[in-house]
Amino acid sequence: METATMNIKIKLTEQSRVNQLDPNNISFGTLFTDHMLVADCVNGEWQTPEILPYGDIAYNPALASLHYGQSIFEGMKAFKNEDDEVLMFRPLENFKRFNISAERMCMAQVPEEIFIGGLEELLRIDSAWVPKGEDNSLYLRPFMFASDVYLGVRPSQNYRFMIIMSPAGKYYSTPPKVKVETEYIRAAPGGVGYAKCAGNYASSLYPAKLAAEQGYTQLLWTDAIEHKYFEESGTMNVMFVKDGKLITPAVSTTILKGITRDTLLQLAKSMNIEVEERRVPVAEIIEGIANGSVTEVFGAGTAVVVSPFAAIGFEGRDYELPAITENSLSTRLKNALNDIRTGKVADTFGWVWKV
Ligand SMILES: *Cc1c(COP(=O)(O)O)cnc(C)c1O
Repeated sequence: METATMNIKIKLTEQSRVNQLDPNNISFGTLFTDHMLVADCVNGEWQTPEILPYGDIAYNPALASLHYGQSIFEGMKAFKNEDDEVLMFRPLENFKRFNISAERMCMAQVPEEIFIGGLEELLRIDSAWVPKGEDNSLYLRPFMFASDVYLGVRPSQNYRFMIIMSPAGKYYSTPPKVKVETEYIRAAPGGVGYAKCAGNYASSLYPAKLAAEQGYTQLLWTDAIEHKYFEESGTMNVMFVKDGKLITPAVSTTILKGITRDTLLQLAKSMNIEVEERRVPVAEIIEGIANGSVTEVFGAGTAVVVSPFAAIGFEGRDYELPAITENSLSTRLKNALNDIRTGKVADTFGWVWKV
């Protein structure tokens, strides 16, 4: 790839820790690969990126991002195919979305050669960390934060972009019970809901904690104005199967434009499933579960691919969904996507990026 020639300063670790990786027992987000990428933007000029041994970074307590939250991230995955080649899935989509988030948070734009070129070089160096095996992957976390040392509220003049990588394993979980949230909101029109910015996740923790105390694993967010329409769920977009059709809220400024969401819609169309992107009233889905026309509700995101819900809690009542089977649409979509991103079947969509 043309990005391969980019100038990156590389300092390799003296002692790899890859023997700490047990592909049969991976807990998410706790173990990091041997190296990380660091690139600084100083007064609008990107400096030569560096790949360094993974480790702590020291900061001045007046670091702007710690106080005012100019901080964004991406989440993506790399896989190993049968021939031990490392594959990324639709990385250009994450790159574009990263810069959309950066624009909204008034942060520097990251050049493609640093974002994509950095991912490729890191994956070449740490390829031994990409675990093989069903449902295993290497989770990739590019992020950027304001690095001015200044307590005034204004856009930072300096930014640090980094990439860290962490092995991810099988997602063992029983289908969650989710609560339709009608008091707190995740995002409002004109706000930052469509940006993957740190504060969106901080503000979701308290309502999620209250729901957990009532026995719910997840929240299903509704619109900020009427609380009548579904938005999304946690770090996933939400999809419904009604009368055999796949229905999902249309994207807007209040919804994160998921790459899994887009991928599943394209896969469904290729399977001749009818797809609707529109406003989805809570009442329509609750009624549909009660009368049997709504057969599946699931979350869609990089981490879980698809996560079918067991029940939806609304106004103090739980509405149970039928059990998921091998023939469920969510299962078929999940399998189709997994087969493509792990290189098991030919990629006719142009989604797989060989490192
Ligand atoms: C990341 C994220 C998603 C899913 O996006 P993918 O690109 O599919 O991983 C959905 N909603 C929110 C709020 C997110 O942060």
